[in-house]
Amino acid sequence: MLSYRHIYHAGNHADILKHLVVSQVCRHLTKKDAPFFYLDTHAGIGLYELASDQAQLNQEYDTGISRLMERSDLPEPLEQFVDLVKDLNPEAKLNVYPGSPMVVNHYLRQKDKLHLCELHPNDYPLLASLFPKKRVANVVKEDGFQAVKSMLPPPQKRGFVLMDPPYEVKTDYQKVVKALEEGHKRFSQGTYAIWYPVLNRRQADQLLNAVEATKIRNTLLLELNIRGTETKRGMAGSGMIIVNPPWTLEKEAETFLPYLSDVLAEDQDAHFQLRWITPE
Ligand code: SAM
Repeated sequence: MLSYRHIYHAGNHADILKHLVVSQVCRHLTKKDAPFFYLDTHAGIGLYELASDQAQLNQEYDTGISRLMERSDLPEPLEQFVDLVKDLNPEAKLNVYPGSPMVVNHYLRQKDKLHLCELHPNDYPLLASLFPKKRVANVVKEDGFQAVKSMLPPPQKRGFVLMDPPYEVKTDYQKVVKALEEGHKRFSQGTYAIWYPVLNRRQADQLLNAVEATKIRNTLLLELNIRGTETKRGMAGSGMIIVNPPWTLEKEAETFLPYLSDVLAEDQDAHFQLRWITPE
């Protein structure tokens, strides 16, 4: 079943947290000269037109990226991310919002390499046309969970894997943990980030417990809830589970998570979590 289309949600609070973390990981990876490999298991279309009918349906970006565009008090990592979005919108108006492949592309050097998986028959060609050069990015219409097995370890020996499934099928919750284990077994020094939604506390905690049960070390959790889970149905928040995070990320998150939970709050139950699932 592939009914999920990310364009309906582009630029919302969950995208902000996810893409901010992606941006910080890339910033860290490109501090060293050595090339890196990026695997996006669920890549989406790469760039989202906010004037499209789909993005306009709920205008989720309005309570996400739009709230940050004009702020003058952004913590530094967030300011750098918002600048990245502004670079893609030279007319000052927010026309497009980047997906994870385009966030990574911002940091890309000639020697780095992307492998982008997207299964949706309509979304795959859009992503492929955004990255036409095979030298830069391999765009494949393949199951991203399988790519964790076929593409790791990368020849570059340095890498970042983003797993961002839609979770519209409940088995994604198990598959993402299994893929993490399989990837880590093949390439233990890589950085892995798993995005997850907070629809209800129990389901999110089950995922966090399953990650903890893998006993993979050095795993940091960043979670941002813009409202309480009990007030209404839908996504109250989201989180990023990061294995082998940049050593600076925890400190940076101490500034940007409180800021985001304040500025993006929908009610007084907005809160965040920042903790190690397993220490180093
Ligand atoms: N990572 C993107 C971003 O941050 O811009 C958003 C990805 S969206 C949440 C999930 C995407 O995964 C959808 O475009 C969906 O079509 C695709 N998808 C679903 N199952 C997949 C699978 N097994 N392998 C690859 N792509 C899949």
